[in-house]
Amino acid sequence: MNIQSAPEGLTDGFHLVVDALKLNGIDTIYGLVGIPITDLARVAQASGIRFIGFRHETSAGNAAAAAGFLTRKPGICLTVSAPGFLNGLVALANATTNCFPMIQISGSSERALVDLQRGAYEELDQLSAARPFAKAAYRISRAEDIGLGVARAIRAAVSGRPGGVYLDIPGAVLAQALDATAAASTLWRVVDPAPRQLPAPEAVERALDLLATARRPLIVLGKGAAYAQADTVIRRFVETTRIPFLPMSMAKGLVPDTHPQSVAAARSLALSRADVVMLIGARLNWLLGNGESPPWSADVKFVQVDVQTCEFDSNRPIAAPLAGDIGSVLSVLLDRIITQPLAVPTAWTDELAERKARNDTAMRERLAEDAHPMRFYSALRVIREVLAQHPEVYVVNEGANALDIARNVIDMQMPRHRLDSGTWGVMGIGMGYAIAAAIETGQPVIAIEGDSAFGFSGMEFETICRYRLPITVVVLNNGGVYRGDEVAASGTDPAPTVLSAHAHHEKIAEAFGGKGYHVITPVQLESALVDALASGTPAIIDCVLDPAAGVESGHLTALNPKSAAAGG
Ligand code: ADP
Repeated sequence: MNIQSAPEGLTDGFHLVVDALKLNGIDTIYGLVGIPITDLARVAQASGIRFIGFRHETSAGNAAAAAGFLTRKPGICLTVSAPGFLNGLVALANATTNCFPMIQISGSSERALVDLQRGAYEELDQLSAARPFAKAAYRISRAEDIGLGVARAIRAAVSGRPGGVYLDIPGAVLAQALDATAAASTLWRVVDPAPRQLPAPEAVERALDLLATARRPLIVLGKGAAYAQADTVIRRFVETTRIPFLPMSMAKGLVPDTHPQSVAAARSLALSRADVVMLIGARLNWLLGNGESPPWSADVKFVQVDVQTCEFDSNRPIAAPLAGDIGSVLSVLLDRIITQPLAVPTAWTDELAERKARNDTAMRERLAEDAHPMRFYSALRVIREVLAQHPEVYVVNEGANALDIARNVIDMQMPRHRLDSGTWGVMGIGMGYAIAAAIETGQPVIAIEGDSAFGFSGMEFETICRYRLPITVVVLNNGGVYRGDEVAASGTDPAPTVLSAHAHHEKIAEAFGGKGYHVITPVQLESALVDALASGTPAIIDCVLDPAAGVESGHLTALNPKSAAAGG
């Protein structure tokens, strides 16, 4: 059978999967071909779906997850069986943790052999392996169930709290032939995949009553708020209530970081002094001190807006849970607040403004330092200034110091323009996220990468060149994990944290037809970045930093057992 056109009157599993995806508005698949799914990619491409082929499945999965975050449609990752499936699973688990909608479709080996562990080619019980790491996991065992399986996967990925879904399709099902007319009737388009969820009136009253008692209110915007695509209503809510707000890293830009109500520059004070905190699409996980005191005050009360009701009370009591989708909940609250305005005491806003001014001055001083060789702040000052002129550029960011410092230094002006290591603090998302941002939005992307972080997905620079994507990778190269100057305690091997201090990452770009820049001063960095952005071609800027720049574990020193044992 010619795979791209089944014989007259017949179809097969390959075509049905593609038809079901297309019917549901899927226009891009991120993946890596091999047995048994190569023809699935061919059929998809022939049908008009864009297939983006990667060098490693984790990156394909990360791209799919980022596409899901940016578009609210499930990103699709296609992998081969066992090893390819397992590579993709890291990204699937990460998507689930971050609440990004994604579907990993993996081909699998012959069930009769796998289930009796007879030693099939790439033998693995993939469905069982995927289950703990996915929001849902399904297997399609008959071609006539493909429409059902795809519909179920889409619904599971995007409804309620979004997450990663695994869809297992054995090779035999893909090859199964069916009568085309009968098969077409087994497919359907999911109606309203993520229905709105309105809050209960009594929950709204409870939240408004609590907010009205606040003397030091604070709004925390999380990446769930960015995902919700309720940008106008969120901004109106913040501005109408006049409550100071703090964006979590991927919520930066929902309301511009330069907005006078942002208290990002007075974060510690805001957390420790706030008496009523409204969490909008943000969880009280480790990134917010698990709700404990410190960093929060002992008697702080929380309002929490979330689609996932079991999220409430997951760390500490939530005095006013608001179950619903962010757009609907904030619309209802706004209607009420317009007729019954809240007042934010000026003592509180003055206190925050004073601390902000002090911290802003300290930051300006740090950014002005003219260190030779460059350190993180000197390099990031340049990137910050270039990005201020280009608010449309998407920023991808990972690393330890490269992540922690860039998050504070780089202001965002537009929603969903920052993608980073997220809830797990995972390394390796860089190139996958950058590729998805470029593919899904058509806009330029700057990936700000620690040299160690870049290594996890660096080979995808070939993918970036192959698809000619407008991605500039800045490798903040201090020659090590955390830093590059550790001396080994004994022997001749390098210390565990040390990487190649004299690496020229820009040569990777040159190897694949991209532009390479090697910079050692802020002036060179600025010129390279401006040039790379203007050219719109794939580029790597190897930005040489002092190997002594950076601290172990970045801002997470307290989580490093070494410092915990030392009492801090
Ligand atoms: P951050 O890391 O930025 O603090 P989290 O990932 O911890 O953000 O929290 C995101 C939260 O947003 C999750 O609890 C998720 O259930 C919730 N969420 C995602 N989408 C929506 C939505 N449309 N409406 C309401 N809550 C949402």
